[in-house]
Amino acid sequence: MANLGFQSVYHLINSIDSAVCERAFLPDKEDIEEFRRTSTELFSYESQTPLREFDIIAFSLPFEDDYVNIGRILGLANVPVFSAERNLKPLVIAGGVGVSLNPEPLADIIDVFTIGEGEGALPELIERYRALKDGPAGALLPGLDELPWTYIPSFYEYSYDGPAIKEVKRKAGAKEKVTGKKAFDLGDFPVPQSFITTPDSEFRDTYLIEVERGCGRGCRFCAAGFLYLPPRWRKTDDVKEALSDGLKRASKAGLIGTAVSEHPDINEIIGFGVEKEGGVTLSSLRLDMIDADLLALLKKSGYKTITLAPESATERMRSVINKGITDDEIMDAVALIREAGFLKLKLYYLVGLPTETDEDALAIVALTKRIKAMMARGQISLSINPFIPKPFTPFQWMAFEDPSVIERRLKSITKGLLRENGVSVNTMSAKEALIQAYVSRSDRRAGSLIVEASLKGWARVMKANEAFITESVSMERPKDAIFPWDIIDHGVRKAYLWKEYGKALEARTTPPCEVGECFRCGVCLPEYFEKEG
Ligand code: SF4
Repeated sequence: MANLGFQSVYHLINSIDSAVCERAFLPDKEDIEEFRRTSTELFSYESQTPLREFDIIAFSLPFEDDYVNIGRILGLANVPVFSAERNLKPLVIAGGVGVSLNPEPLADIIDVFTIGEGEGALPELIERYRALKDGPAGALLPGLDELPWTYIPSFYEYSYDGPAIKEVKRKAGAKEKVTGKKAFDLGDFPVPQSFITTPDSEFRDTYLIEVERGCGRGCRFCAAGFLYLPPRWRKTDDVKEALSDGLKRASKAGLIGTAVSEHPDINEIIGFGVEKEGGVTLSSLRLDMIDADLLALLKKSGYKTITLAPESATERMRSVINKGITDDEIMDAVALIREAGFLKLKLYYLVGLPTETDEDALAIVALTKRIKAMMARGQISLSINPFIPKPFTPFQWMAFEDPSVIERRLKSITKGLLRENGVSVNTMSAKEALIQAYVSRSDRRAGSLIVEASLKGWARVMKANEAFITESVSMERPKDAIFPWDIIDHGVRKAYLWKEYGKALEARTTPPCEVGECFRCGVCLPEYFEKEG
C-alpha cells in the first residue's frame, strides 16, 4: 500500500467504466499456514473473490526481492505458477521498476509485461484485452503485442553459452524492440498519491505524493536515474492541491520522487505544508541542494532526521560514480545541518564500487569521524550496502565484487567505528546482495530458481546452484554482450552507457542534464518521443 505505482494503477483501472480492479496481498507468514490448513484459496480484498476467477492477475514489482512472492501468491490462489501450464486463464501480467529494467528472470511465469511507466499503459491494455478476450484464443497475445510497450516473453527464444546469452530468436510477427512507456508530460495524469490510506500499512500516518520523476544528475550506479530520464517536475499548484487534500487525511505528507529536493519550488511546497500545519517529509536530500532556508522549513515541519547519500567517502570514487560532490560540500552541508539544530543524521554508502580499493572503503571511517566531530551531540547512522550493478546503467557490463572482498571492507568499516559514540553502522551482507546481483541481471533460467526459492528459501537454492550463480555475477561482460534486457528501449542509447562506463573507469565526470538543450543520451531525441507515442 506504500507503493504509489500500485495505488495509481488501481485508481486508473477503476476509473474505466468497464473494469473493476481489486487488491490482493500475500498473507503474513503465520496466516499462510492457516490458508493451507483450511484449504482456503487466496481471495481479493474488496469482494473476497478467489483470484483465479479474475480475468487478469497483475503484479506490481518494484524490487527483485519481491519476485519470490509471485510463486507464493499464485500457489495460494491455486493458479499454476508457470505460464505454459495456465493457457492464459487467468492472464498474468506484471509491471514496475524491477521488470522494466529486466523482465527476463520472470519470463516463464508472466504472460505479458508492461514496460515503463504505468500511466496511459494499463488502461489501454485493459481496453485491448476486453476487445480480444472473447475472440479466437490465438489472437490475444499477438493483439497485446501490438502495443509498443508490452513484452511477451513466449514470443522469444534464447540460447546460451554458459552464463552468457548466445542468440535470441523472435517468433514470426513479434516486435523487434519494446519501447518503455513514459509519461513525458506528467500533467496529463493524476498526481500519484495515497488514494487509499489505511492504518494497516507502512507509512500509515503519512500521505505520500509524487512530486517529480527522473533525475538529471547521471549517477552511474543508479538504475532509477537512467530509467526515469528525462527529469520531470510536477506543477507546483498540482502538488499543493494534493498536499491540501492529503493533510486533511493524515498528519503528515511524504514527498516522493527520484530526486525530490531538485524540484525547483521545493521550498515553496514544504512552506505550503507548514502553513497547513502538517508535517512534510522528503525521501532524501541532495547534499549540494541543502541551504539554511530549506533546513529551517524542514525543522518547522517536524523533520527529525536528515538523510544524505554521499555514496562514497573519497572524491575519486565520487567521480567514478559521477556523484559530483566534494568533501568540502559534504562538510558544509553538515555544518548547516548542525546550525539548523538537527541532531540525527543518516548517511548512505555503497561498498564494492568499480575501481574501489580497501583504502577507498576505509575512508568512510575517517569521514564519519570528521562529521561526528562537527556534530558532537549528534547521532549518526550509516547504512552501507554492497554495490549491485544494474541493467540500463553504465555499470551493466561489470562484475559484482567478490563477496569476500565486500565482507572484508564492511568488517573494517564497522570495526573502525566500533568505539565511536553516537555512531551506528548497518550493513547488508554480501550474501544477501549476491542474490539480488544474480536476479537483477539474470535471464529466464532464473525463473525456476525463483520459484524454488519461494518454497525452500534462497539459502538452499544458492547452495545447490552456487557454481552457476557465482559465475553469472562475477562475469565481466564484453562490449557486445547480449543482455536479457536488450529487447527493451527506454531511450538511453547503449553506446552512451558504454561511453559513460569508460569515463567512470578514468574517474571522469559528466555534467547534469540540460533538458531542451542536450541530446547526448538519446531520451530527448524527437525520434524517441515519436516512437514512444
Ligand atoms: S538527452 Fe540530455 S537532457 Fe535529455 S535525458 Fe539525456 S542527458 Fe538528460
